[in-house]
Amino acid sequence: MPFSTINPYTGETVKTFADATDSEIAAAITRADETFKQWRVLSITDRVPVLQKAADILRERKTAFAKIITLEMGKILAEAEAEVELSAAIFEYYVNNAGKLLADEPLPVTNPAEGKAVLVHQPLGVILAIEPWNFPFYQIARILAPQLAAGNTLLLKHASNVPQCAEAFQQLMLDAGLPAGGFTNLFLPHNKIEDVLKDPRVHGVALTGSEKAGASVAQTAAKYLKKSTLELGGTDAFVVLADAELDKTVKWAVFGRHWNAGQVCVSSKRMIINEKIYDTFLEKYTAGVAALKAGDPMDSSTQLAPLSSQRAADSVRKQIENAVKHGAIATEVGEKVPQQGAFVQPTILTNVTPDNPAWYEEFFGPVSMIIKARDDEDAVRIANDSHFGLGGSIFTADTRYGYALAKKITTGMVFINHPTMVKADLPFGGVKRSGYGRELLGLGLKEFVNHKLIDVV
Ligand code: NAP
Repeated sequence: MPFSTINPYTGETVKTFADATDSEIAAAITRADETFKQWRVLSITDRVPVLQKAADILRERKTAFAKIITLEMGKILAEAEAEVELSAAIFEYYVNNAGKLLADEPLPVTNPAEGKAVLVHQPLGVILAIEPWNFPFYQIARILAPQLAAGNTLLLKHASNVPQCAEAFQQLMLDAGLPAGGFTNLFLPHNKIEDVLKDPRVHGVALTGSEKAGASVAQTAAKYLKKSTLELGGTDAFVVLADAELDKTVKWAVFGRHWNAGQVCVSSKRMIINEKIYDTFLEKYTAGVAALKAGDPMDSSTQLAPLSSQRAADSVRKQIENAVKHGAIATEVGEKVPQQGAFVQPTILTNVTPDNPAWYEEFFGPVSMIIKARDDEDAVRIANDSHFGLGGSIFTADTRYGYALAKKITTGMVFINHPTMVKADLPFGGVKRSGYGRELLGLGLKEFVNHKLIDVV
C-alpha cells in the first residue's frame, strides 16, 4: 500500500506520499548514526529535557495532534486526545525515572577480596521501529521515549495509513530540541526493510503489528543477527465469575470491547462468563452495546467510530460470515450504523465452539464472542485455549481469589476488575503468538542496551 491519508469516515483520499528512495534511506541511516555518536555521550540529565519538552508540546498541541489521528485512522476525537495525553505521560515517565533505571549496578560478589563487579547499561545505536496505525502517537511514544532516554536513536517505519501522524511526530521532536537524526520518519516500503536491517549501524528492530509482519521482520532480523522485539496480536479473555458486580462489569465489558472501535490488541475479545450469570450478563451486555451511537468521529456525541479503512471493515465482515458458516450465531446489535464510512455493525457471536476457526481468531472490530464457562477452572481453561497470550481480565468480588486465579492465566498481563489497560507506568507485552520482549518501564528501556560487565580485580 502507498503511504496515504484516507479519511475512514468519508472515504476521501486526502494526501499521498512517495516511498523513500534508496539514497534517502542511506542518508537517514548515516544521519541517525552520526547523531547517535553525539547523543550517547550526553548524560541522562542532559538528554531528558528534550523528553520533557516533547511532553509539553504534546499537551500544548493536544487537539491539533488528535485531529490528525482521527482524520487518518478514524478514532473518536476524545480517544485521540487521551492517546496524546498518554504519550506525554510516557515521555514524563522516563524524564522522572531513566536516571534511576539506567544507574550502574554493583553486583553482589561471593568474595569481595577478588574485587568488584559492576553492570553498566549502554546504548547500542540506531534502532528501527515498525509501528501500526491503531494508536499512531502512543505507539511511537512507547518505543521512542525509552530509546532516546537510553541514548539510542530511532528510525520509524509507520503504518502506511498514518503518514501525517508520523510526520507530525518527527516535527514535534525537532521542536522539542532533539538533534536531526535522533528520530527519523521514513516512508519505507516492506521490501526496503531488509536494506535497513542489514546495515551494520542498525542494531535492532522493534515491531508492533500482526503475526505475519512479526514473523517476516523477525526472520530478516535473525538473518543479520539483529535483536528484535515483537508486540503482536491478542484475543484477551474477559472472565466474569459468578460473584462479580454485574452492572459495573457489563459497563467495563462494553468499553473493553468497543474503545477504538474494537481495534486494540488488548480489546476484551472473548467474554468467558460463569453459566450461573450467563443469561443475565448477555441480556445486559446486549443492551449496553445497543446503546452505543455510531457516527462522525470528530463529533463529541459519537461513541462508536468507523474502522480504520474499508478494507479492514470488509475483512471483519468476512470473518463474521466464516464464523457463522462454522456454526456460530451472529446477532447484530443496536441502530443501523451509518452507510457512509468504514463501519461494522456491532455483532455478538454466541455458540462458538473450539472447532470453529473463529474460536482462535482475533477480530479487530466491534465483534464480541460470548462463551459460557461451567466453573472457574473451566473459565481459566478456556482463557488459556488461545494461540495468543497478551492480556486478560477477571471480574470478581473476591480480589484475593482473583489474584490467585490470575496466576493461572498464560498471558503477559492480567487485570482484576478492569479490562486490560494501557498506562505510562505499567509494562506492556505478551507471550505465545503475542510476541516477545516488553515495552515501557525499565523492561522496555533495557531491551536495546548493552548490559556490560566491568570487573575490577
Ligand atoms: P500489520 O499489517 O502487521 O502492520 C503493522 C506494521 O507492520 C505496519 O507498519 C505495516 O506496514 C508493517 N508491516 C506489515 N507487514 C509487513 C511485512 N511483511 N514486512 C514489514 N513490515 C510489515 O498490522 P495491522 O493488521 O495493521 O495491525 C493490527 C495488528 O497489530 C493486530 O494483530 C493487533 O493486535 C496488533 N497490535 C499489537 C499491539 C501490541 O502492543 N501487542 C498493539 C497494537 C496492535 P504497512 O502499513 O505499510 O503494511
